[in-house]
Amino acid sequence: MNRPTLARVDLGAIAHNVRAVRAFMAARAAGPVPALAGVVKAEAYGHGAAESARAMADAGAAMVACAAIEEGVALRASGLDGPILVFGPFALGDLDGIFEYGLTPTLSTPTLGRRLQDAAARRGVRLRCHLAIDTGMNRLGLRHDNLARTAPELLAAPNLEFTGVCTHFATADEPGSGLFARQQRNFEEAGRVLAGLGARGCVRHAANSGALVAEPATWLDMVRPGLLLYGVPPAGFEGVVPVRPAMSVQSRLAAVKGVRPGESVGYGGRFVARRPTTIGLVPAGYADGLDRRLEGRGAVLVRGRRAPIVGAVSMDVFAIDVTGLDAEPGDEVVITGRQGGDEITVSEMAAWASTIPYELLCRVGSRVERVYVRARAE
Ligand SMILES: *Cc1c(COP(=O)(O)O)cnc(C)c1O
Repeated sequence: MNRPTLARVDLGAIAHNVRAVRAFMAARAAGPVPALAGVVKAEAYGHGAAESARAMADAGAAMVACAAIEEGVALRASGLDGPILVFGPFALGDLDGIFEYGLTPTLSTPTLGRRLQDAAARRGVRLRCHLAIDTGMNRLGLRHDNLARTAPELLAAPNLEFTGVCTHFATADEPGSGLFARQQRNFEEAGRVLAGLGARGCVRHAANSGALVAEPATWLDMVRPGLLLYGVPPAGFEGVVPVRPAMSVQSRLAAVKGVRPGESVGYGGRFVARRPTTIGLVPAGYADGLDRRLEGRGAVLVRGRRAPIVGAVSMDVFAIDVTGLDAEPGDEVVITGRQGGDEITVSEMAAWASTIPYELLCRVGSRVERVYVRARAE
């Protein structure tokens, strides 16, 4: 039995997007085509981590990356056998999962380095890890301008083997950003310092989706897109890589009713009908990830037309104006995705809700069943 509100996740689209990104780089790379790490943190931005990671790996992703050790453990337990990179940040307590599930941690502090060295020594193993450099975002990583002091101890740790070095950009998708340019220069310089300290043969990676579409010089040996693989282009870079949205959130009208001029709809009575109005009730609400700021600003698709969201979005239901659409209970409601000739993208919905597509994707609630399809497999 299905609840009518569900998220259709097209694994064929995710596979297509991996291939589209690789083809985009192959056509432009000066040297060897960079490898691709598919970012699947936060349940693959709401799409389902295990299913998405498998689709990415099958389509040619060299590795997948997540944020938390627990996410990496779940991915491994799902049967994924390729490399799993874990960004952190890590609480320093429980690092066992890294060893027991063969995860590749990203080292971002000397303290974490010492803990991992101790844990690896106790187990008598050599742990492969990547080293994160803070090139100006001032979040995770060793400061780029302090490596001569912090890196030697880590590089000398007998049970740690550094196979990668990475950084993360704060403003990759802002054209002309001075910080973006500075971070690129700082990472190059960090690479020289680390080579001088004896770090050799590390895979260098930096580019998230924004950097990937904006600046080929950031591709280095490997890129780390997330958003783009789910078919959502970074703002301002629509159409640069021909990706397809992987998720569509849909529901069905639960009820249709008339309200008279002067009557209001929903909590707070903020929507007041000015004319005889037909209201459709959709069985989805903020518990499913619908943003309350969509009230009076957003729309959904019914019978191929846009129906405005009217009145408060409540926990389990919201109302739409379907006047003149001949809508009936049971009609399909597309919250994001295509219907007829129209499409509501996550980016459009994010603009209505004054947020970013990342947040809306991650918030599609656990109550919303994911239905996996390969509608567009080639
Ligand atoms: C989330 C994340 C990415 C992917 O970012 P997108 O903008 O979704 O492409 C890459 N690298 C790190 C370190 C991240 O945390």
